[in-house]
Amino acid sequence: MTFKDLNISEPVLKALEEKNYTTPTSIQKKAIPVAIQGQDVLGLAQTGTGKTAAFAIPVLELLKKNAPVNKRFPSIKALILTPTRELAIQIEEAFADYGKYTGLRHTVIFGGVKPAPQVKALKAGVDILIATPGRLLDFIGQGIVKLHEINIFVLDEADRMLDMGFIHDIRRIIPMLPKKKQTLFFSATMPKAVEKISDALLKKPVRVEVAPVSSTVDKIDQFLYYVEKPEKIDLLVDLLNKKHDERVLVFSRTKHGADKIARVLNKKKIGCEAIHGNKSQNARQNALSNFKSGKTRIIIATDIAARGIDIQDLGVVINYDLPDVAETYVHRIGRTGRAGKDGMAYTFCTKEDRTMLNDIQKLTGRKLNRVSEPA
Ligand code: AMP
Repeated sequence: MTFKDLNISEPVLKALEEKNYTTPTSIQKKAIPVAIQGQDVLGLAQTGTGKTAAFAIPVLELLKKNAPVNKRFPSIKALILTPTRELAIQIEEAFADYGKYTGLRHTVIFGGVKPAPQVKALKAGVDILIATPGRLLDFIGQGIVKLHEINIFVLDEADRMLDMGFIHDIRRIIPMLPKKKQTLFFSATMPKAVEKISDALLKKPVRVEVAPVSSTVDKIDQFLYYVEKPEKIDLLVDLLNKKHDERVLVFSRTKHGADKIARVLNKKKIGCEAIHGNKSQNARQNALSNFKSGKTRIIIATDIAARGIDIQDLGVVINYDLPDVAETYVHRIGRTGRAGKDGMAYTFCTKEDRTMLNDIQKLTGRKLNRVSEPA
């Protein structure tokens, strides 16, 4: 499935393509169609699953469809409430990225900084406002922000919001919103207090969730190598020589990268095949059946090409490159350790990959076992 299948409009699709996002993550697949139809959503998803785009894309689509922007008397049509300044900034970046061809205007407000620039941005007019609770209430109190024309309300990380003591703020903000609106509610967990708010706020919500990742991940031994780009290929050769009787799936970020790895390995007499979107369907099919029959022991694949691979006794997954979304890590390593067998996953992490590594560890709730230390 691609974003095109989700009936996303051309301007948003174009922006997604520019970011090289072709395939929606599972929370996106589930939440986007429901939200675009105008239904309330109760989304259970952690950071790293692509949940930001799961609400940002519908917000952009809905505002374009239902609320033509009135340039002369601007007022806010969508409010995204999130607990921290970091999240607020990230969400605003997502709107800037995905919404760049929509003509919709957005801004972000949070506390701890001078209000003047934020006020100026608001006065220029915005359709989408991303806010943390304290600064939002402050601006509402001063009459700088008005919520009476909100069509869509997104509450992000509701559980964290409560953990951080924002319950009273939220209780004050909710009654200021129009009764008739669409609400998208996201939380990683659903403790009682969060459930109470969602019950009060949502009307016949569709519940969408991504499977908790811990069960898949627990069966797999996960190792981490801190390694810089130039040394990656030697490390891979080393590992493959050690694992000489296992079937191995190696993940490369790009098609070109996959080909390059395959060339080097074949030169070193390590038999392997690369599969990716530039290969013909026939070539991919052949590579897969060779892998299944045991003729080829090693496959180098991109994420998209690897989808067709369903091998029972895949012993090892190697993340030569880290994925773009933390959730993809779980899908990748989930291909090993099936049917009660032990799986192994090796992950290469360069300096630039540290943030993604953190996201992955946050998502899976456990640290990978370090084999080598950072330089
Ligand atoms: P989030 O869970 O919203 O914090 O997203 C995690 C990361 O995945 C962010 O860096 C996003 O930009 C990225 N991302 C979200 N959706 C996709 C997608 N469909 N394909 C590739 N990357 C994505």
